[in-house]
Amino acid sequence: MYIIYSPDHALHNPPQEFMEGTLSTYLESPRRAEIILQAVQEAALGEIVAPANFGLNPILAIHHADYVDHLRTIYERWVALGGAPQAALPSIYPQRDLFRQVPVSPWATVGYYSLDLSAPVTEGTYAAARRSAHVALTGARYLLDGEKLAYALCRPPGHHASADLMGGYCYFNNAAIAAQHLVQSGPVAILDIDVHGGNGTQAIFYERSDVLFISIHGAPEWEYPYFCGYADERGAGAGEGYNFNYPLPKGTDDEAYLRVLDEALAHIYRHRPAYLVLSAGFDTFKDDPLGQLALTTPGYEAIGQRIAALGVPTLVVQEGGYAVDALGQNAVSLLRGLQQP
Ligand SMILES: [Zn+2]
Repeated sequence: MYIIYSPDHALHNPPQEFMEGTLSTYLESPRRAEIILQAVQEAALGEIVAPANFGLNPILAIHHADYVDHLRTIYERWVALGGAPQAALPSIYPQRDLFRQVPVSPWATVGYYSLDLSAPVTEGTYAAARRSAHVALTGARYLLDGEKLAYALCRPPGHHASADLMGGYCYFNNAAIAAQHLVQSGPVAILDIDVHGGNGTQAIFYERSDVLFISIHGAPEWEYPYFCGYADERGAGAGEGYNFNYPLPKGTDDEAYLRVLDEALAHIYRHRPAYLVLSAGFDTFKDDPLGQLALTTPGYEAIGQRIAALGVPTLVVQEGGYAVDALGQNAVSLLRGLQQP
């Protein structure tokens, strides 16, 4: 297995976030990726390789050009205007349905392109996000070259980012960008096992039948992103019947999770995808500070085994996971399961 990693993720290191009414340390930290890298190296799971440079076109195949341009330029424009040098962060969210044009002032665009307050743009955010997308694309290329399994150790994560909105620690939707790259060679399924519903990926593919999207997550009645991820969201237009959400109750354990996973995998099997993109978050872990499910470290190996049983070439794209003490072993456990024949 190839494990794709770039140290450039550390260019994105916001000092703090605003959560539940208070400023706190930014949980989506460079340490997360470093811990996972160390664990997969120690476990000798595969060769660590650097991402190739795919340029902007595969990113523009998913994200709007004005959004990409915003992310590329906003930090400099924000600081030039007198914004705090730590990060560009919204103080206003221009309501899109009331505006005929994208606002011009950086004070407003920073909110116009943001879903929430958890995606600050620092000096290195664009470079890190672009590299993270290339990490996923490099993994996709390995699958196109005939590999059965690749792990894109992406950071920042991507599944909350839609075509023109950042949020939930996400800027470019790495899984969607990789899926778009793969779908030119056959149908793709995306399975999102992060504890948070993959609203961005869902929005991107909601009206398409060539990319099946399935998300298993904490129910939106109590779990971020709260506004989508309900079971009755089934896709629209040509995409009707190609979107599935499996909202779970609080405290779901390995056994109950695996039952739901089996249902999801049955949908994927019927779709006969040529490739599977697995948006892998480990915030389903029992001790995760941002999740309320109860999965264990051995549980991830069982999840990996069942996904591997599909026999579909699989690209694992790293999403969330914030219980840093267990993060490395959880990633190793999932990958070990996926490696089993
Ligand atoms: Zn998450």
